[in-house]
Amino acid sequence: MKFSFNLTKQNSGARAGEIQTARGLIKTPVFMPVGTLATVKSLNQTDLNKLGAQIILGNTYHLFLRPGLEVFKSFNGLHKFMNWQKPILTDSGGFQIFSLPRARTISEEGAVFQSYVDGLSHTISPEKSIQIQNTIGSDIMMVLDECINSTADESRTREAMELTHRWALRSLNEYKKLLIYDQDQGKPYQALFGIVQGGVFKNLRKQSAEFLTQHEFSGFSIGGLAVGESKRQREEMTEVVTELLPVNKPRYLMGVGTPIDLLEAIRRGVDMFDCIIPTKMAQQGNAYTSGGLVKLTHSNYKFSDEPLDSKCGCSTCATYSRSYLQHLTKCREVLGWHLISYHNLYYYHRLMEAAREAILKERFMEFYSKTLSGWASGEGLGQGSLTVRGAETSERLLGREEAALNHVKKKNRGLLVSEMTLENS
Ligand SMILES: [Zn+2]
Repeated sequence: MKFSFNLTKQNSGARAGEIQTARGLIKTPVFMPVGTLATVKSLNQTDLNKLGAQIILGNTYHLFLRPGLEVFKSFNGLHKFMNWQKPILTDSGGFQIFSLPRARTISEEGAVFQSYVDGLSHTISPEKSIQIQNTIGSDIMMVLDECINSTADESRTREAMELTHRWALRSLNEYKKLLIYDQDQGKPYQALFGIVQGGVFKNLRKQSAEFLTQHEFSGFSIGGLAVGESKRQREEMTEVVTELLPVNKPRYLMGVGTPIDLLEAIRRGVDMFDCIIPTKMAQQGNAYTSGGLVKLTHSNYKFSDEPLDSKCGCSTCATYSRSYLQHLTKCREVLGWHLISYHNLYYYHRLMEAAREAILKERFMEFYSKTLSGWASGEGLGQGSLTVRGAETSERLLGREEAALNHVKKKNRGLLVSEMTLENS
């Protein structure tokens, strides 16, 4: 079974489709929970199946460092290792490598960086990234790209975009070589997506989309957003790119976002999303509901016997009160993180299903307005703070990773003996 995309319906720019992969069908628009280290934080595979996850993400950079490729070779890939039978998408590792400014060097060849696990130096080239993803055995792979801050100036952004293009072609060449071998071996088909870069510059985004769409990628990602730009810029860049992408291939907006971000992007023709926000926000006691964002740590909920969302059908809402969830969050109990993560991802999946349904019925804009007014009628979207929160979250997580790297360096110098646990993005 090869990879294909069927556009079922288009309505007011929004698209409903079906992606066929070697490990099953994905109905779009789709939200993909992030399983960075072969686990979607605080949830197990039964939870993910129950809430309706169709595909999850794995992170090439982290999985390459730990548990390492030998483990994936011995298990014939990530699916068997984590016992997840549905599709998996892997990123190229680019975002994580480039987020470590003091611990890596970039050249035409690739990126050299120091492992936060053991302090050893590693090189990830475009070819190497494809080889790693091939060993991990994901259903959808990404090319290695140079991901820079969206606040970079035009000349720096152009430089990164041009390197991304050269790397995309090298990735594609390596992919074709491995594909021939894998087909001979009867391995499940892996698709490869190109990544459109170009920061917040329309001309560069256009150039990037025009360049990449001339080559045989199975789909296209929009990268380099949700890394410091404004909401308006993100929407504008998304629109510029989706207008140039072929209608018969899936579009994936990387690292986005909040529920409103998702609807805004669906409206502009995006099919696929991933983000750590639902589980990360849950850890801090924040829940997305039909009435907007609920910050459970608020004193108003101390005695509240209401569910998180009376319109939600999830097991958290059926079983627990806001008061109890607040208590768990304040005590930093793992159960609180789990229960709110479950609700948040359940909510995201129902939102995607409802959007798809509305597109199929040619009522997307009606659904869009109604959902937005629902959020506004309750506790609001908290949009401004959420965008900032998302950025802060990434920064803090990456800061922690750097701290772990420094720790490894000190440890290697014999200065520290204790093991540090890293919880990363
Ligand atoms: Zn719920």
